[in-house]
Amino acid sequence: MTDTPTQLFIGGAWVDASDGATMPVDDPATGEIIAHVADAGAKDAQRAEEAAVQAQEEWARTAPRVRSEILRRAYEIIVERTDELAHLMTAEMGKPLAEARGEVAYAAEFFRWFSEEAVRIEGGHGVLPDGRNRMLLSRRPVGPCLLITPWNFPLAMGTRKIGPAIAAGCTMILKPAPQTPLSSLALAAILKEAGLPDGVLNVVTTSRAGEVCEPLLRGGRIRKLSFTGSTNVGRLLLAQSAEAVVRTSMELGGNAPFVVFEDADLDKAVDGAMVAKMRNMGEACTAANRFFVHSSVAEEFGRRLAERMGALVVGPGTRDGVDVGPLIDRVGRAKVEELVADAVERGARVLVGGRTPEGPGCFYPPTVLTDVASDSRLMDTEIFGPVAAILTFDDEDEVIRRANDTPWGLVGYVFTEGLDRALRVSERLEVGMVGVNTGLVSNPAAPFGGVKQSGLGREGGRVGLDEFLEYQYLAVPVR
Ligand code: NAP
Repeated sequence: MTDTPTQLFIGGAWVDASDGATMPVDDPATGEIIAHVADAGAKDAQRAEEAAVQAQEEWARTAPRVRSEILRRAYEIIVERTDELAHLMTAEMGKPLAEARGEVAYAAEFFRWFSEEAVRIEGGHGVLPDGRNRMLLSRRPVGPCLLITPWNFPLAMGTRKIGPAIAAGCTMILKPAPQTPLSSLALAAILKEAGLPDGVLNVVTTSRAGEVCEPLLRGGRIRKLSFTGSTNVGRLLLAQSAEAVVRTSMELGGNAPFVVFEDADLDKAVDGAMVAKMRNMGEACTAANRFFVHSSVAEEFGRRLAERMGALVVGPGTRDGVDVGPLIDRVGRAKVEELVADAVERGARVLVGGRTPEGPGCFYPPTVLTDVASDSRLMDTEIFGPVAAILTFDDEDEVIRRANDTPWGLVGYVFTEGLDRALRVSERLEVGMVGVNTGLVSNPAAPFGGVKQSGLGREGGRVGLDEFLEYQYLAVPVR
């Protein structure tokens, strides 16, 4: 950890918070403090805003090829330093090293993808219906952006926003989650090394999110907010963005249904469930939250899932052979404990897990609950932990109605061997993404995002770049 920067990154320089404040970062596997980083206040937010605003005009004029090559170099550096970045991420967030390496690869791919997209920003030309007037369309960067990221994917949530912002020619201020600031600071150092001009990316680590972000959103100089986090905070930030009519992209919470039909291949369904539930210890917006399993296969599915979940090794992410690291903090773990206790009180049976281990660290065991009652709190709360809750159904219409009976709509999973049914059910699910016989949908080349209260806009894919671009239309009469 010795080489990782711990100061704010503003205008291309590493600086302390103007009031000298710092905040601790701890390792959720041990509770030990691993670093102190600068804790920015409102004054630092202003400095970062000034740097981003000053850099915007020149950055917008750089050749797309230059922006593309910076991203490509950063991609290569990240890949070269996979091990170092994975250790940093595991130390501040807890995920096992193998998963952290997977996230580094995923995070790097956003830079590779957007380095390829940066040189394919297209405008247009057209003859208007009157036959005389011409329309010229160009794409321009939206302007200085505020990027706010959560702690669960400390590197990838950053690159998923920074990649398209750089490709589009936007400058930005990144505010990472206070639990996991080190990965973002390491990323800023890599981008500087890759040749990113001063002021294009500024990173403010802070424990005072409201004090730092609200003036930026209300001030009128930041033109875009890209937020990933909970729906409640997203709602608050949307309200703050309304005043200066800031453009927003919102990647919010989920409550994913995982539907297993009677004609599903149960091997595929259990494999899919392990990924959809256990990726990132269940601390993912895409995590399967509600398992709806046809009553004719529910017992078999539950038995096999419990067997696989029970065989997972829980421990510090740095230890060899560990599959499941600690949860992010005690608050996160207490929420999981409460949700399980509530489900059990309402009649759920615990097939495996369900008991918090003694000792240091925020560990919680992989848990499978069956016979979960529909009015259990975990049916309408993101569990954000390694708990699979199984309910049964008998009829296709019924399960679609129940799956859609939630304010969220990020992702759903459908397991069936019938193509007809897979398409029919997917089309009726009110979600932005569907995994058909797979528990993994995330891919930098695909548009990631949700409907209903899971968000606005998409990240990744070609459309991920559109979120950072505006159209300008020129009217040209031809006589
Ligand atoms: P969170 O509490 O909403 O925090 C997310 C980020 O917002 C953090 O950096 C947080 O900083 C900041 N924040 C909180 N209040 C703020 C305010 N008033 N002004 C400005 N920033 C503020 O969410 P989380 O617990 O970190 O992350 C888990 C949530 O993220 C889950 O709901 C999950 O589903 C969602 N998520 C969604 C996606 C997606 O793509 N849809 C991906 C990953 C995660 P502080 O902690 O300092 O408040």
